[in-house]
Amino acid sequence: MSRIAIIGGGASGVICSIFASKKNDVTLFCCDDKVGKKLLVTGNGKCNITNLKNFDMAYNTDITKYLKKFDQMQTIKFFSNLGLVTYSDQEQRVYPFSNSASSVIDVLNNKLKKCGVDVKLNEEVICVEQLKNKFKITTTLQSYIYDKVVVSVGSNNKLLEQLHIKYKPFSPSLVSLKTKEDTHSLAGLRLSNVEVVLNLNNKKIFEKGEVLFKDKGISGICIFNLSAYLARQNNYNASISIDMMPSYTHEKLLNLLQERLKCDFHNAKEFMQGFFNEKINNNILKTCKIKNEDKITEKNICQLAKAIKQLKFNVIGHYENNQVKSGGILLENLTAALQYKYVNNLFFTGEIIDVDGICGGYNLQWAWTSGKIVGENI
Ligand SMILES: Cc1cc2nc3c(=O)[nH]c(=O)nc-3n(C[C@H](O)[C@H](O)[C@H](O)COP(=O)(O)OP(=O)(O)OC[C@H]3O[C@@H](n4cnc5c(N)ncnc54)[C@H](O)[C@@H]3O)c2cc1C
Repeated sequence: MSRIAIIGGGASGVICSIFASKKNDVTLFCCDDKVGKKLLVTGNGKCNITNLKNFDMAYNTDITKYLKKFDQMQTIKFFSNLGLVTYSDQEQRVYPFSNSASSVIDVLNNKLKKCGVDVKLNEEVICVEQLKNKFKITTTLQSYIYDKVVVSVGSNNKLLEQLHIKYKPFSPSLVSLKTKEDTHSLAGLRLSNVEVVLNLNNKKIFEKGEVLFKDKGISGICIFNLSAYLARQNNYNASISIDMMPSYTHEKLLNLLQERLKCDFHNAKEFMQGFFNEKINNNILKTCKIKNEDKITEKNICQLAKAIKQLKFNVIGHYENNQVKSGGILLENLTAALQYKYVNNLFFTGEIIDVDGICGGYNLQWAWTSGKIVGENI
């Protein structure tokens, strides 16, 4: 039986502790006052623990071989064995039946207790030193000696720096984007069923769904997912265009607009009423440099169709609150059991590894998968 220190009481550290405790004496260090605190804010407080969809395209890198060891079905079974009842929604996102993240934390905490894991709360690890065949862990309270160490600290890079471990710098992902264009007049508006295209390095990346306007930028699941591509390149300069009527081809929309010319509309404002929300109508007219009181004529039709199908924004940065960070230790520097190739008995789990996913439960799935793999193999 080895003495193991697991640093970080988040999703991956907790599941790792549960599996590692089957064969080892495990201590879990957490700098918060309770384990899994971040889980409380996931999935809008509901905790979207995984997703039943195929994982192709969900991550920045191919993690099929890891998922084969612990995939979404095994994750659901694991939680079910802990007593958690789950359901999946139309998007195949899996949540606790209670719709409350605290149910997930409760069942994990119960299991940690049953497994005899020594949970040290409010204790931040500030230094990990390699001794001959052992590790010295120094926390804000005292020092300890362990045989093996697992680093599960999310995107906190302090220990990586202290251990002189190479990693890809972290960049905020699943984050709202700031735009050059002033979006103040649209703030609070939600557009559903739109198609959003990110133009990045001559490539087009498509997302369908909902966009939410903020004071100085854009948000919503579509935008979060597109932000992942920007984060992976650590470059938040790109252009985004929104097709507000993706179910209409350009020609069909031209026809619709032509037909409206035949109606007895007083002015441009009236012409646009019945299309979108007033804020968007104003924005479209502004983009086309048409005043509310102007009369819409044949020559405006193409302009309007373009504004409706290609509402353009220039991205110039990101907001502060991100859900995950892209970057971390490259998988190529870790063994199949996620042990650092250059230091024996030093393991990593979760977000600190350079694996990041889009919205929908994929990031937590990586936390469960990586935590289980290390816990079982350590
Ligand atoms: C608002 C929000 C919503 C999200 N929603 C979802 C969602 O619905 N579905 C999904 O899949 N993902 C979601 N995520 C992402 C998900 O939370 C992360 O991918 C996941 O928590 C990563 O797990 P982890 O174990 O790697 O790190 P974390 O969960 O970040 O845990 C790290 C832990 O380590 C502790 N720690 C850090 N440094 C030290 C230290 N030096 N000493 C001791 N302890 C330390 C921290 O306090 C923390 O407890 C969301 C994230 C946010 C912020």
